[in-house]
Amino acid sequence: MTFAEILKAADLSPAEVQGGTLSVRTPVDGVEIARLKTHSEKDVHAIIASGMKAFEVWRQVPAPRRGELVRLLGEELRAEKENLGRVVTLECGKILQEGLGEVQEMIDICDFAVGLSRQLYGLTIASERPGHAMRETWHPMGVCAVITAFNFPVAPWAWNAALALVCGDPVIWKPSEKTPLSALAVLKIFQKAVKKFGDAPDNLLQVVVGERDTGEVLVDSPDVAIVSATGSTRMGRAVGVKVAERFGRCILELGGNNAMIVAPSADLEMALRAIVFSAVGTAGQRCTSLRRLIVHESIHDELVARLKKTYSNLPIGDPLEDGVLVGPLIDQAAADGMKRALEQAISDGGTVTGGQPALAGQFPDAQYVQPAIVEMPAQTDIVRHETFAPILYVMKYKTLAEAIDLQNAVPQGLSSCIFSTDVRETEEFLSDIGSDCGIANVNIGPSGAEIGGAFGGEKDTGGGRESGSDAWKGYMRRQTNTVNYSRDLPLAQGIKFEI
Ligand code: NAD
Repeated sequence: MTFAEILKAADLSPAEVQGGTLSVRTPVDGVEIARLKTHSEKDVHAIIASGMKAFEVWRQVPAPRRGELVRLLGEELRAEKENLGRVVTLECGKILQEGLGEVQEMIDICDFAVGLSRQLYGLTIASERPGHAMRETWHPMGVCAVITAFNFPVAPWAWNAALALVCGDPVIWKPSEKTPLSALAVLKIFQKAVKKFGDAPDNLLQVVVGERDTGEVLVDSPDVAIVSATGSTRMGRAVGVKVAERFGRCILELGGNNAMIVAPSADLEMALRAIVFSAVGTAGQRCTSLRRLIVHESIHDELVARLKKTYSNLPIGDPLEDGVLVGPLIDQAAADGMKRALEQAISDGGTVTGGQPALAGQFPDAQYVQPAIVEMPAQTDIVRHETFAPILYVMKYKTLAEAIDLQNAVPQGLSSCIFSTDVRETEEFLSDIGSDCGIANVNIGPSGAEIGGAFGGEKDTGGGRESGSDAWKGYMRRQTNTVNYSRDLPLAQGIKFEI
């Protein structure tokens, strides 16, 4: 399929994607594929006002009925999986298998949210006063802004939107300026679901197109009850402070610097497969990509030798083609960042294998690279920094305590894992003195989470949780209700106050 055919199949006509000022380039070959019209500050305020109007109606629709809209969305996504997956690949450069996987995650979270729409449970609580009942109820919050990053153009939107919608909150989506076409394609799919649903209010989902300043309008508006932002720690630091200043609700999903500890008892065959998938998948551009490998000194040389061999045969190329495992970086800035990081690692005493540009003859305007393995003598500042590229830093350890200290000694706290068949080690890794991350796995790599668990991390990763478990509570306001069904008015704590 040509790029134009991919967009057409996703119902994006040339008239809709041309004539504006925001240039969208595909990382596949670096050419411009769209020029979108952007929203002004005034437009965004009008969009927020429309969202608030939708909230007035949507919050009164029973939650299981709201779930029906999300069920229909899941059905439409199933029908459009191939078409949408291709747009994701075209726009962000991940291989088609991963583009399709992202859409599958959207479908999975829709299924989850449908069930959830009948389970927005509160507690009943024992009252200390006779003839009184206490309970906790959960209510819709208001407009939910979802700001997303380029590397996952659609799934994080769905983790938020599917929950927000069953919780009674309209959604305003500010996609990355690098991947707005995927968002426009999802909007089309959503509108089909709305049509089948019949009586949903207008503007339950709106998409705002623009750069950082467009997002800032949402962040600053007191009429946006929830800001859920996925992206760099730098972005989260700005957004978190602004939303806190106005006492808004903020869910932050920021950068990661994820490690794997490989212990002497590890199944090396399994470890090897997990390392390669999580370090070079999405060309190292996942928040959960494996960036640090902490290997016991007794198996270090064997593992590194096998890794180098596998890395030397990785199929790098057009992510739309079958058999390719490593696609391009998103843009020149990403390639420059990788080059700078490797130079710094060398000056810190590291030894680099790979990391050079690839396929420059075939794609002169795109940024393909050979993934890099960097053997480091220590965890220097560059290792502690998240470089959004396929760089795997390898370090040695002697004791498990030392390995866990290294794993935790970075600013970020998203995902982590250990490969070991020793239950004492694996349980210690998962214990109170183990990994400090939001995600800690055993004999599984750090990337590729399922939607059933809460997703997110600590420290510079922002502390937010999305997707499964009880993450839905982030999209509702909690109310404590005390009902007195007696004929008396006893006060709590036994206080006497007679008039
Ligand atoms: P980015 O921070 O440059 O941009 C993310 C989004 O935030 C974009 O839509 C951008 O326009 C917007 N934005 C930036 N500054 C803003 C501001 N001050 N106010 C409002 N909006 C603002 O990130 P990116 O380069 O697109 O994505 C890569 C980063 O995202 C990596 O650090 C990666 O780890 C992180 N990420 C985290 C998760 C997670 O779930 N933890 C998932 C995906 C990506």
